[in-house]
Amino acid sequence: MVEVNGEDIDAQRQWQQQLAALGAEPDMPDWEPAAYENWQLAERRLLNPGSAGGPAFLVSLRPATGPMPSWQAGDIAEVLPGANDPARIAAYLSACGLGRDVEVEGKSLADHLSRALIPDHPVESAGELVAALRPLPHREYSIASVPGDGSLDLLVRQVERTDGTLGLGSGWLTHFASPGGAVSLRLRANEGFHAPAGGRRLILIGNGTGLAGLRGHLRQSRAEGRGGHWLLFGERSRAHDALLPGEVDGWLADGTLTASTAHGRAMRTAGAMCSTCWPKPRRTCGTGWKTAPRSSSAAAFRAWPRRLTTPCAVRWATNGWKRWPKPGSIAAISIEAVIS
Ligand SMILES: Cc1cc2nc3c(=O)[nH]c(=O)nc-3n(C[C@H](O)[C@H](O)[C@H](O)COP(=O)(O)OP(=O)(O)OC[C@H]3O[C@@H](n4cnc5c(N)ncnc54)[C@H](O)[C@@H]3O)c2cc1C
Repeated sequence: MVEVNGEDIDAQRQWQQQLAALGAEPDMPDWEPAAYENWQLAERRLLNPGSAGGPAFLVSLRPATGPMPSWQAGDIAEVLPGANDPARIAAYLSACGLGRDVEVEGKSLADHLSRALIPDHPVESAGELVAALRPLPHREYSIASVPGDGSLDLLVRQVERTDGTLGLGSGWLTHFASPGGAVSLRLRANEGFHAPAGGRRLILIGNGTGLAGLRGHLRQSRAEGRGGHWLLFGERSRAHDALLPGEVDGWLADGTLTASTAHGRAMRTAGAMCSTCWPKPRRTCGTGWKTAPRSSSAAAFRAWPRRLTTPCAVRWATNGWKRWPKPGSIAAISIEAVIS
């Protein structure tokens, strides 16, 4: 649900994003552009060396000037990519038969294309190209930290297109933006994914970089002295894809988490169970809380262990996850990935 109060630009952007999720043109310019702030890329660290999947990075940002702004766990960072992949620009200009140094309005075509959406189809002339250009769109990332951490952290999977060039937003954050360099970013409140009131225990489910928003919640909860949550995290291989194993161990040790289980098959099983726990089983995509229905929560949670397949059950048992939470003690479940 998107609540709109007056001319709430934040809500309009949420609405626009929901339309894109339903199939509207994803690269449309913002209806009401909100200002970006200047941030600095403080650190970038590869989290899954040796993985069979795409590289995933921890990207830490700090405001270029002034104090850390405020946000809550669950909020979103909208990043304006600083430039297109130069290889994409070169390939597009070559497909059009245009030289990169051809000047229009005092700028080379390569410069024009650097900060503009590259058209889907080749054009016939440099003038036609420049007239057709639209500004680069932003990309959204779940914030993986809280302001008290001293940095705004993102977990970003580098997307590689079929032609070998890098995705616009992920390529910018994981490759083209230089450490110490500038990043344009704005914060968007995401009320639907703020922690439920009452400080109750949470079941957090995610895979891959879906860990980002969950990390934000665990860090917020830890800072507030709350704990007892569960984390179900899925990735291909425990050896290479755990992303932040040290942090998870730390949360288990200090009680922020009372249970955590990981990866591939276990995750899919947990996801399937999750869908079947609800009166209307459904596939779930994206970031949000699925609050357990009061009437059926007891039965739903009791049904969980029976639905486990062996590898998952073994893993849960070895994690000491033998006792199920009292029905009703779980406020909500967060699902941060497409689960099938
Ligand atoms: C609310 C929200 C939160 C998000 N949080 C995160 C996050 O924490 N970490 C994160 O890494 N991403 C996150 N994303 C996804 C992110 O916004 C981008 O979609 C993603 O980085 C790819 O964008 P790009 O510009 O790099 O690729 P593009 O240039 O848009 O696309 C490159 C190619 O890859 C395909 N593609 C696009 N997205 C994906 C994808 N996710 N996987 C595989 N192929 C893809 C496209 O169809 C295209 O062919 C989030 C998205 C939303 C809506």
